[in-house]
Amino acid sequence: MTFFTNARIPTMQGNDTVIADILVVNGKIAAIGKNLEGGENCQTFDLQKMLVLPGGIDPHVHFNTPGFEDRETFEAGSAFAASGGITTVIDMPCTSLPPVTNVANLENKLSTIKDRSYIDYALWGGVSGNCLEEPNWRENMQALWNVGVVGFKTYSLSGMPTFMHLSPEELAEVVKYAGKFGILIGHHAEAAEIVLPLTEKLVAEGRNDPAAYALSRSTEAETTAIQRIGVLARQSGTPIHIVHVSSGSGAEMIAGFKSQGADVTGETGPHYLAFSIEDFIAQGSVLKTAPPVKTKADFARLWQALATGELTFVASDHAPCPLAQKQTGSIWSDYGGIPGAGTLLPFLYSEGFRTGKLTLAQLVALTSTNAARRFGLFPQKGILQVGGDADLVCIDELQNTIIHGADFPSQGKLTPFEDWQFQGKIQSVFLRGNLIYNAVNGLAATRQGQFIKRN
Ligand SMILES: [Zn+2]
Repeated sequence: MTFFTNARIPTMQGNDTVIADILVVNGKIAAIGKNLEGGENCQTFDLQKMLVLPGGIDPHVHFNTPGFEDRETFEAGSAFAASGGITTVIDMPCTSLPPVTNVANLENKLSTIKDRSYIDYALWGGVSGNCLEEPNWRENMQALWNVGVVGFKTYSLSGMPTFMHLSPEELAEVVKYAGKFGILIGHHAEAAEIVLPLTEKLVAEGRNDPAAYALSRSTEAETTAIQRIGVLARQSGTPIHIVHVSSGSGAEMIAGFKSQGADVTGETGPHYLAFSIEDFIAQGSVLKTAPPVKTKADFARLWQALATGELTFVASDHAPCPLAQKQTGSIWSDYGGIPGAGTLLPFLYSEGFRTGKLTLAQLVALTSTNAARRFGLFPQKGILQVGGDADLVCIDELQNTIIHGADFPSQGKLTPFEDWQFQGKIQSVFLRGNLIYNAVNGLAATRQGQFIKRN
């Protein structure tokens, strides 16, 4: 048993908090309230009225084990996430080798990850262009869904030969099939028919600069792909989740489909809320992502979309790489992706809540509750209530955090947030009642992360 006293927890009304004690038995919250008593053999933590939130959920990471481990591993990625207050990630299928497109590959991934994660993990399945070449792709989806993946990642534009994108016709077939069983489809929305010819033209003109890359992946590319899958969602009833929405128009389009009764949600990421094309031009490939960051007006609109609920949560799209892969000499071949799992919650706490763009209740919803609900992890995850996992993040609101990529436990050390100062500091993090990180001693000696199935 573990007993937490003097936790200042959100009431989920605006910015209100209340001081409470939390009793944990077998990793679950057994009681929460005022003046509780811990038992004789209880390990007790006095949280000293620090702000305590439900552990963060990062529903979009690429930890690459088993797979492209020169870029990131589950140990390093989950260590970074834990240090940033994340207690559950949902790992993507597409940067694993073999990709998680059937149950055998899922089991291979689960046995490889076992004992290598500091935090709990759910998994995405996937359907790629490669899959559709196999006659039994439908059975593979069905079987993976039954094992408990949260959904299936698809791309309208992918640069990965091991996980190719779907043509509009293939996407329609997959969405239609998924709809029959209520299977959720996650979608990377950038229309290949817009991006690829434009890229070819810009390369032929000798362009090799961030502005050219940004030009090749326009807002129109994003909205065209969202429009296409939104119509499919409306027709089929399939739950669709748009990953890393980068434009205000993209968020508005998602809200539009929602208002028409389609089951469409969207996430954005910290980089889309912090940076514009001007920053990308200044930073170069350190800030190269797909889709690329858009304008200042877009990032203002994305903040608004989080506050209004047009977008449902924030994810990091954590996808680092070694320095050399960011310095190939060409903006086109430099790796697209940044480490972000450990800066997600500190960023949103500081730049969202502390600046007044979000209430405390919204911060909790956007970093934990809403993702848990959308992906079937709720109420085991995403909320501090009796019966849920005792995943807690304690934030010292009087201290600040200065970001230095070199200090990240991630293998990725290059961050567009280098030298940023966030208000607040992650003081300690508990997974199922066990301390997994604190600011003084760092990470726990043992890794206790477990696979969490969609319920
Ligand atoms: Zn991704």
